[in-house]
Amino acid sequence: MKLQFLGGVGEVGRSAILVDDSLLLDYGMLTGNPPQFPVSVPEPDAVVVSHGHLDHVGAVPSLLSGDRRPPIHWTPPTAELARTLARDTLKLQGGRYDCPFTETHVGRMTQVSEPHGYGEPFAAAGYEVTFYEAGHIPGSAHVLVDDGETRLLYTADFHTGDHGGSDAPASRTNRRGEPIRGQRLVSPSTDRPDADVVVCESTYSDVDHEDRASVERRFVDSVQQTVWEGGTVVVPAFAIGRTQEMLLVLDAHDVDCYVDGMGTDVTKMLLRHPEFVRDADALRRAKANARFVTGRDGQRRRIADQNTVIVTTSGMLSGGPAMTYVPEVRGDPTNKITLTGYQVEGTPGRDLIEHGRADIDGRTMPIAARAEMYDFSAHADSAGLRSFLDDYAGAEILVNHGDDCEGFAETLRADGFDARAPGLGDVVEL
Ligand SMILES: [Zn+2]
Repeated sequence: MKLQFLGGVGEVGRSAILVDDSLLLDYGMLTGNPPQFPVSVPEPDAVVVSHGHLDHVGAVPSLLSGDRRPPIHWTPPTAELARTLARDTLKLQGGRYDCPFTETHVGRMTQVSEPHGYGEPFAAAGYEVTFYEAGHIPGSAHVLVDDGETRLLYTADFHTGDHGGSDAPASRTNRRGEPIRGQRLVSPSTDRPDADVVVCESTYSDVDHEDRASVERRFVDSVQQTVWEGGTVVVPAFAIGRTQEMLLVLDAHDVDCYVDGMGTDVTKMLLRHPEFVRDADALRRAKANARFVTGRDGQRRRIADQNTVIVTTSGMLSGGPAMTYVPEVRGDPTNKITLTGYQVEGTPGRDLIEHGRADIDGRTMPIAARAEMYDFSAHADSAGLRSFLDDYAGAEILVNHGDDCEGFAETLRADGFDARAPGLGDVVEL
């Protein structure tokens, strides 16, 4: 087996791995201005997509140009998220010379779509491929590729649940009093299929997440305090996964909220695939608890004036209805902006946390409202990555999807693993 890394090495974004020039695992884009794409445009016989995030699926429509129609294998939610993301990309980038696809390509995705559930092996480009639940977002999968000689496990993005591994006591319970660990939206990754080679993500290889129960408690206390003081809380959240997680957290603690942006449609879509969320009843309740904003700016300004909580895209304040809410609430220190995930360097969200200001629609605005950040990560942290890899002590580990892949590979080597971090465009013979 031969792997070529076309992106997502030494970086988070544009993940793409070509197996033997015939099977492509993910084909993402790196958001930014301008966005970046994998380093070459392969012509695979089949495509397998791990999950519906832009950095894993964002460039997939461009594989359907000319006469090329490789089948695309994914879970049903990933297929739907891929279409949503592609349409959003066209809205933002369409018409620009560097957008590698058009509406026509996006339309073709339906013709070649091959949906599969977890644990159901299927054939793709002559390989046997199986998805395992990765615990990252609904529909996210670890991808096992077997050519009859070598078993390759591509972890893609995953979450193992609470710090402390699966033996640690669960830190909180759901409404039925059942213990839960990790995210409320999806169950943690627990399957560990046998593999000879593991391509492992490393997004948080040098981070220890705060215990989830404690993040939730701090977040809810902070939100409730602002509401009691008469303020407005804006909760910027990524549309896919995080928005739904925040609705679940707020509902679990009986905090009413509004929800706005692309996350509203994603919430409705996920309820059409209840088998891919952890607790569909809880998500249905959370959806009913949240008031969906239909989207006129006049309505948004009236809501921003209320003593309430608003969950909205974008998660890093780089677009979406947050662009209307933030200028409305920014002048009053009673108000609060609670970021709910990692803020990439150069984004308005990062600027807000570090400097108390944000570039909104080309204007630099000082922000008097209080800004806080909470780590509701959907990725394994350093302990989670290690607990996962401890089950693959005899395998060859290839580290990708992180800012310091080489650093993590070195740490693993020092602990006796056979690990390395391929570079961009590198071909690895197995
Ligand atoms: Zn992801």
